[in-house]
Amino acid sequence: MSSIVIPVEPFDLVIFGGTGDLSMRKLLPALYRRDADGQIPPPARIIGLARADQTTDDFRQEAREALQKHIPAQELQAEALERFIKRLAYLHNDVTHPEGWGDLVALLNEQPNHIRVYYLAVSPSLFGVIANGLAKVGLSNGQSRLVVEKPLGHDLASARKLNQAIGAVFDESRIYRIDHYLGKETVQNLMALRFANALFEPIWNAHCVDHVQITAAESLGVGSRGEYYDKAGAVRDMVQNHLIQLLCLIAMEPPYTFNADAVRDEKLKVLRSLRPLQGRAVLANTVRGQYQASHDSPSYVQEAGNPDSRTECYVAIKAEIDNWRWSGVPFYLRTGKKLRAQMTEIAIVFKEPTHSVFGEIETPMMPNVLSIRLQPDEGLRLNIMTKDPGPGGFRLRDIPLDMTFAEGRAANWRMPDAYERLIMDVVRGNQTLFMRGDEVEAAWAWIDPIIAAWDASGTRPDHYEPGSRGPIASVEMMALDGRRWREIEAKEHD
Ligand code: NAP
Repeated sequence: MSSIVIPVEPFDLVIFGGTGDLSMRKLLPALYRRDADGQIPPPARIIGLARADQTTDDFRQEAREALQKHIPAQELQAEALERFIKRLAYLHNDVTHPEGWGDLVALLNEQPNHIRVYYLAVSPSLFGVIANGLAKVGLSNGQSRLVVEKPLGHDLASARKLNQAIGAVFDESRIYRIDHYLGKETVQNLMALRFANALFEPIWNAHCVDHVQITAAESLGVGSRGEYYDKAGAVRDMVQNHLIQLLCLIAMEPPYTFNADAVRDEKLKVLRSLRPLQGRAVLANTVRGQYQASHDSPSYVQEAGNPDSRTECYVAIKAEIDNWRWSGVPFYLRTGKKLRAQMTEIAIVFKEPTHSVFGEIETPMMPNVLSIRLQPDEGLRLNIMTKDPGPGGFRLRDIPLDMTFAEGRAANWRMPDAYERLIMDVVRGNQTLFMRGDEVEAAWAWIDPIIAAWDASGTRPDHYEPGSRGPIASVEMMALDGRRWREIEAKEHD
């Protein structure tokens, strides 16, 4: 089975911050791969823009080295690489200076019919500046689209300000807020699973689901980004955007059609149904943590360069959705740094059978679990109870039905990176997998009181061992509900 590639319309993509880490590590490799697969038409151009005074040749060389570093050698084809490199151009411009936009105007006006995509791979403090700069030189009209990425605000007030700043120039239908989790194949497959099969939807509710766990565990600490990270913390960096977006996709009602606003309207309803966590409820339903030092690695506060830091690099939250479908079904969210393994997973844990006809048997009955792995090994698994084959009594066994994507694909098939899908969707003008401004604001409206209650409590994050499962208090939070966290592990046990 090979993937179907439909070329997009000719476009010019301007990467503001084209020489930065996001551009070199994620955007250019994703674009190269779409180009190598034949999705990018010949006249399309990619323009990197930054302050450094360098030439297009310098930029091309930098891009070539980045591609060689971030794409496995067997995937880099010499001919495709040269074709891609030739698409690249570089302009130097400090976007905070009103003059200096002329070169961009001249370059883009060479191709007046191209779709224009402006990818803001720069600090959010420059989003409004760039939107205004584009408007002033007449580059914000018609077929142009603006792409922005987290952090989309620090709280509700700053998110609103950001939305207003870019919204004053680009209307909502031309703003693409990337959450790269939504570009992952598995996440889209979650929607196929729910809405293209009759099997799951009837049991996708409080009658059959016991609880949901969403985990994004990282094995690395904050490292050299400590000082920067300390201003944000896990709830702002991961929960407000990625984990809440995943929660929305699991919890939302079926949209009447799979178009951008129909999907986003349903996600917004979920966000508005999240039970507010305020005051004492926050302390009872959340756990914060910071990793300690080990014999050979520094603690979180050491890496943050702030011995008094109260910023959490681990957080667990019990969220409840007050609507008809999910009443009484907790959604447990957790994310943290320097944990046992790198793992991102959604687990839908179903209720146990109401009565066991097997009576006293050696093996306990395990609840059915549908697990959706985002990393590593993207894929879906449904754990079901079966009879252990062979003589010797009636033993039950919990086995996974594997629905990994590699199945049925050619041997050289590769899971596309989220950015490949998302950038092509921007060019196609499809906003379904992007967050709307009101979604971002609704998520902050739920998060803000949690942070406020932590601040007001005067309490500090708990400590946890590096390489562990997180603070003991998070295990206790689950135990109080008679539940357990799923194991954090790089590979699932068979
Ligand atoms: P970075 O490595 O610091 O790159 C910033 C880029 O912006 C550089 O190309 C820089 O080049 C350019 N720049 C800075 N000020 C400018 C100005 N006044 N005018 C024109 N260009 C300017 O940062 P990054 O890691 O790529 O991240 C960029 C943004 O994406 C940040 O907001 C970050 O939070 C977000 N983000 C990054 C990642 C990631 O994986 N890196 C993931 C998600 C979100 P000059 O200094 O030469 O101007």
